[in-house]
Parts: sequence; C-alpha cells; structure tokens
Amino acid sequence: MKYITTAIAYLNGAPHVGHALDFLLADVLNRYQKSRGETTFLQTGTDEHGQKVASKAKALGISPQELCDENSALFRALWQDLDAKYDYFIRTTNPNHIKNCQEIWLKLAENGLIYKKPYHGWYCEGCESFITETEAREKNFTCPIHNQPLQEISEDNYFLKVTALIPQIKAAIERGRALSTLDALNGETTARSVGTADPSDDQYLKILPDFRASEILNLLEKSEDVSISRPKSQVSWGIPVPNDPDQTMYVWIDALSNYLTTGHWPASTQIIGKDILRFHAITWPAILLGLGLPLPRLLLTHGFVNVDGTKMSKSLGNVISPTEVIARYGTDAFRFYFLKYIPTCDDGDFTWAKYDAAYNDLANTLGNLVSRLANMNNKYFAGLIGTQNEQSIDKSDDSLPNIVKSLAKYHHFMQNLDFSDALTELFNHFRDINAEIDAAKPWTLAKSDDTLPELRNLLENWSSRVATLASALAPFLPTTSQKILAIFQPEKTVYNGEILFPKPETTTP
Ligand SMILES: [Zn+2]
Repeated sequence: MKYITTAIAYLNGAPHVGHALDFLLADVLNRYQKSRGETTFLQTGTDEHGQKVASKAKALGISPQELCDENSALFRALWQDLDAKYDYFIRTTNPNHIKNCQEIWLKLAENGLIYKKPYHGWYCEGCESFITETEAREKNFTCPIHNQPLQEISEDNYFLKVTALIPQIKAAIERGRALSTLDALNGETTARSVGTADPSDDQYLKILPDFRASEILNLLEKSEDVSISRPKSQVSWGIPVPNDPDQTMYVWIDALSNYLTTGHWPASTQIIGKDILRFHAITWPAILLGLGLPLPRLLLTHGFVNVDGTKMSKSLGNVISPTEVIARYGTDAFRFYFLKYIPTCDDGDFTWAKYDAAYNDLANTLGNLVSRLANMNNKYFAGLIGTQNEQSIDKSDDSLPNIVKSLAKYHHFMQNLDFSDALTELFNHFRDINAEIDAAKPWTLAKSDDTLPELRNLLENWSSRVATLASALAPFLPTTSQKILAIFQPEKTVYNGEILFPKPETTTP
C-alpha cells in the first residue's frame, strides 16, 4: 500500500496556484504508482482552526464554521477542476478528527512528552507563529511579511519535548539520506519504543531534495521544545486541550494529526511546500516517535510558484487563481504548465506570457503531431495502420532503440519523483518524431507504389511510438492521453479531425 498525502490547506483564503501544484504532484504520483500495479490511498483536506480564520469570519459577519464550510468547498472543487483524484478529504473541524487529536495529546502526555510552562516571547498574528527573542530583535520587532509590530506575549503554554527526541530524528534522517528514493519508497519502517534512541532502530525518513535534508540536520542542532497550545482567551477557534478548559491546541497537533485519521499510516510519500518542511521534518517526527509510531518514508518538498519573479502575496495583489488559468486553455494545459515548467523540487515562475508560450508549444509539438500523423494514416492507408503495444516495443530494442531508452529515462525520473524531467523527456521524444516526419517527407513516398511499403512502415513506427508515449503521458495529461490512445488503436487509426489544442480565437495581453 502506498499512502500519499498532500499538505492540508489553511482556510484563511481561497486556493491559489501553489495549492494546485501541491495537489497535482500528489495526483501524478498516485496515477503513476497505480499504473505500476500498486494499491494507493491519497488523502488531502483542509486545516480549519486558528485565530486568523476566526478573525476573518468575524469581519465577514459569519461564524468560523460557516467560513470553513465555504472555503473548504472551494478546495474540493479545485481537485475536480484539476482532474485530480483523492480517496479521502479530511476537515480538521470534523468531530472524529477532534476526538483523535485529544487522544493523541493524552497519549503524548502519558508518555511524558508534554509539559506546561510560562512563555515569554514574541508573536505575529498574521503568521500565527512564535518568534524567539533573538529572532525578534533581528527583525527589529516587526514582522517583515506583515509589516506589523510583533506582539509581546507572556502566557502559559504547553510544550512538546522535541529536544528529547532529536537524536532519534537525526539518525532517521541520516538513514533516509543513505537510501535511494526507490528503496525508501519500498522499504518498511516499523514502530519502535518511545524514548531515547535505540541503536538497533531501523526507522528512516528520506527528504527530497537532498539539500533540504542538510537544512533540517542543521536546524536540529538548535531546535527547542515547541509550544503546542495557546490560552483560550487568545485563540478560541480550535480544539480544547484535554483536562484544561483554559487552553486551546495550537496548530501542530491539530493539523499534523490529520495524516493519522484514516488508519493508513505510515505514509509512503508526504507532499509539502518548502515553507512547512521544518514542521514535517522535526515537529511531526517528534509527535510520531512520541506515540511510538513509524515515520513517513519520504517527504517530497516542492518550492513556490512565483509570479513574474516575485513571491505571490495578497498585499501585492499578484495572487493567481487556478480557476482563472484553467479557464484559458482547459485542464490538461494547466497540468502541462505546472508539471513541466515548475521544477518538481524547486521554485518556478508563472506569467501569462510564459503560459501562452507553453500552450503554443503543446499545440505545436503534441497537438500537431497527432493530427498530421492521424491524417496521413487516413489519407494514405484508409486508417489501416496499427500500433504495437508497449510490451512488444520493449522487446524489439533493435528496431526502436530510442523510445526504449526514452522510456527507461522516463521511468527513472518518475521513480525518483522528478516529474518535471519525466514530462520533459516525453516531450523531447514527441519533438524527435516530428523531426523524423519532416525529414522523411512522407508525401513524396506516397507518390509511387514502390515506396508505399516504406511509408507504411514509417507510419506504423511513428503511430506505435506516439501511442506508447501517450500511455506514459497518462499521469500528467489524463484526458489527452485517452484521446490519443483512442485515435492510434492497435489495429487501426480512428480520427475524426479533432484538434487537441486549438489556437485560441483571441489572446489577452
Ligand atoms: Zn507575520
């Protein structure tokens, strides 16, 4: 079983393209693993508690639950718009989740990992995060993101004893680093006793990309215990701390526990943005180790989608709505851009001009290839051009060496969760076929009976390769893949002249 999770989206706003990227990476992995015969389970959802949600609801004159209901529905709708599929959508206001969180809290307390102490420090309500005295001084007591003075806080908080678990977390990350991605995904991690590091422990946690593992190992050197509650007087919209009515759970246990709710733990792959890596690579393993549970096998960390080189932010007014982008050229074009032009593990950039250029590339490279090839099959051989299936192509290395090589590379990238390079590889091969067609000049071969057999061989070869590549394309562009496979069938070509990626009638500047 491969259990895949996305980060759960915080409901203080509507979905942006960064959320869409997170969901698409999970969807591609899920579709790919399924196509390799794996059983999978994909969970996503929404993170609904916290003071920001409560303040926003108050400003809108509705209850926090009403705001959550409205915004959570937008995220579910986005999955549908993206043609992405989940198996379970969790909401952290769900009574079952609330009950689980309280049980987790009690178990951690029972294992001696939670204590209460007065906290004195700094806090940004916009970020909903604590800032140490040193950091606050460095920032001149102002949040650089929200451009607001930090609040000075003196209150009682519960803390999670992360420091007691640091040796175990470090050892697990170092073990994960030594494993290949494939071994990490296929390996087993087992539950171990709670407490100090056991030298025979085989728990591991692989972090992709690898330089992020270094970042976390450095951060672990100076990690402190983590505050896991706030006074109810400060944060009312949240899960009550068991046996202490004056305290509300702060985000960590509430949000991170979502991954445990459906009983599929451990996760095979957790997909997260780089901004929440430290919580998933330090706080979350501490909670799991504190519960005696196995660690996730792999954390896949993606970057941000910038807009014209600038970070998206509400204050700059440059937030791009995925719905707006999908409306321009449809779902598969959206998937194409965000999966190919945004590097899987790095920051990427979006501009409308780049998006238009990518669409033109899609239309010229793939759309044009499919229609010209199908038209030739119809025109010269009445559609009676078949395709070999992938298995037979795999065996005939001599006649079709390039596609075999290309697919081997594709699978290598997919198995290393490098989706953007895998998709690029498929498009390089589509480009090669276009070039071969140009060079072979099929229309001249069609002029004489002597060259017709040669033309037939070429068309069969190209059609087979396009069909094979279309199968490999399925995790990325599911609808397009189906359409191509319906055209280039094993026995014949069936084409009604549909243009896969039509030129838009007008383009907006
Ligand atoms: Zn802030």
